[in-house]
Amino acid sequence: MAYERPNIAAMHGYVPGKQPQGGDVIKLNTNENPYPPSPAVMAALRAIEPEALRKYPKPAADGLRAAAAQVHGLAPEQVVAVNGGDELLRLAVTTFVPPGAPIGVVEPSYSLYPVLAEIHGSPLIQLPLAPDWSLPDDLAPRMQRAGVKLLLLVNPHAPSGHLTEVAALARIARELSAVLLVDEAYVDFVDPERAHDAVPLIAAHDNVLLLRTFSKGYSLAGLRAGYGLGAASLIDPLLWKTRDSYNLDAIAQRLATVALEHRAEAAETWRKVRAERARLAQALAALGFTLTPSQTNFLLARAAHGTSAKRLVQGLEQRGVLVRYFDAPRLDDSLRITVGTPAENDRLLSALRELL
Ligand SMILES: *Cc1c(COP(=O)(O)O)cnc(C)c1O
Repeated sequence: MAYERPNIAAMHGYVPGKQPQGGDVIKLNTNENPYPPSPAVMAALRAIEPEALRKYPKPAADGLRAAAAQVHGLAPEQVVAVNGGDELLRLAVTTFVPPGAPIGVVEPSYSLYPVLAEIHGSPLIQLPLAPDWSLPDDLAPRMQRAGVKLLLLVNPHAPSGHLTEVAALARIARELSAVLLVDEAYVDFVDPERAHDAVPLIAAHDNVLLLRTFSKGYSLAGLRAGYGLGAASLIDPLLWKTRDSYNLDAIAQRLATVALEHRAEAAETWRKVRAERARLAQALAALGFTLTPSQTNFLLARAAHGTSAKRLVQGLEQRGVLVRYFDAPRLDDSLRITVGTPAENDRLLSALRELL
């Protein structure tokens, strides 16, 4: 006898990238930051006193919300703290989408989005990206006609690394009478010369919700912390109704706050990742791969015609180098490679030279 709801029984769960235990394995498959968290964060972890664990944490993570508000020039009412960015995605679905109402995404995109729609029992409206991974011009009107209540866009885009300009997002926000969630999981790695900042959208559009995470930019994927930014009217129900009562534990609140206070140290890792991203892209191109210009901490590398990407991924794994492979249209000829340290990237490149 199965007791799940029929949509749960019929669905497949999210498939995370492999997390090997020990061994001499180089992990370039789940987009973690290759550098450690700030020493100040580790010091704060060691300084956690028993009282902080005996008592319940601050229900709405006031300190973390105040720190994030200060970083972005917003008010604390415009910030909701979450137990990883993935929690914000789930909260957006449960808060803004009536059961059965459609959710919009572009194809391809973060593979968690369809899973959340299935859990909720919502049909997914999927529109294909242009060949250069940019958004279709008529995205908003088509989503509008389909009646979506929530449009999920990851920017910079995963898994391509393509960055959509803020002006294009503003137009979509204006044309859409639904919530536009911009998943900025990788925004910390955008080249500063692009001067990309979507936060000003919030003042002009009360339907824009920005997702930020500590997992990638702040080297804290193991901690589980992130936050959402939006108009106070949009944030309010997430903050005071649909969130779990104590969604962020005391350690996550404390460490994430310290991470924001020491943002300059994280920014130094962003600079190093950008430098390695450029070097790795050039080296992969020299090996015959076609690269999408990336504004993230990963590269989507299309294998030369006649070379099987799947075979390369398997060969790399045998040599102790994990990269991500998506058996999906438009992606099954490519490797998604997280930018590692210079030494890790060198090991990837020499393994690829052997295989090619
Ligand atoms: C990593 C990631 C997130 C958030 O991850 P958390 O670890 O839950 O903060 C959200 N969206 C995309 C596209 C990601 O890659």
